[in-house]
Amino acid sequence: MNSTFQLTGGWVEVIAGSMFSGKSEELIRRVRRSMIAKKRVQVFKSHLDNRYSGVFSVGSHDGRTVDAIPVDSASQVAVRLDPFAQVIAIDEVQFLDDGIVDVAADLALRGRRVILAGIDSDFRGEPFGPMPKLMCQAEVVDKLHAICVMCGAPASRNQRLIDGKPAHWDSPQIMVGGTESYEARCRACHKVLKGDQPSLL
Ligand code: ADP
Ligand code: ZN
Repeated sequence: MNSTFQLTGGWVEVIAGSMFSGKSEELIRRVRRSMIAKKRVQVFKSHLDNRYSGVFSVGSHDGRTVDAIPVDSASQVAVRLDPFAQVIAIDEVQFLDDGIVDVAADLALRGRRVILAGIDSDFRGEPFGPMPKLMCQAEVVDKLHAICVMCGAPASRNQRLIDGKPAHWDSPQIMVGGTESYEARCRACHKVLKGDQPSLL
């Protein structure tokens, strides 16, 4: 039989969306259900995110956690893989390099269920890291929404604020340890300053 057509039982699922859209909650829910089904599960999360519970667990904004291995590159995921894990979940995957695309594909080909949660667009509304490629190769993509803090509509954007004002387009995609804050906003309420444009709010 042509190996191209062999069913391996592996696949990639992506949970995408803005901050506060419930990606970590959903990842935790899927991980817990896999554990209930007696699957061997391994959870990773990007180093860059240590917002609530230190680097050894995935935390959601509602306070729920699962234990996780901190990684800051795709090769670290590959090196630290448990060869017996049947389900591999990675939170904050937008911070990893493009190598994660091949790691995920390889795991799926080897029969693993791969669950990836990540922010799909940066503060400018542009594609974030490996997310477009991961969403392209995934069998299943769920795009979650937060609530726009300005108007109450479904929010798909991350509003970066610096001293309470919209950030400039030229500011870096990732600000580690910065003084910026973020709000969930819809397309209409999302603001990014360009050129010499004065801040409107
Ligand atoms: P994500 O991983 O997508 O950042 P989490 O799963 O960590 O999201 O947190 C989702 C939770 O954040 C919601 O269940 C809610 O309690 C809280 N939350 C705070 N601000 C908002 C908002 N603007 N819209 C929706 N949920 C919000
Ligand atoms: Zn809005």
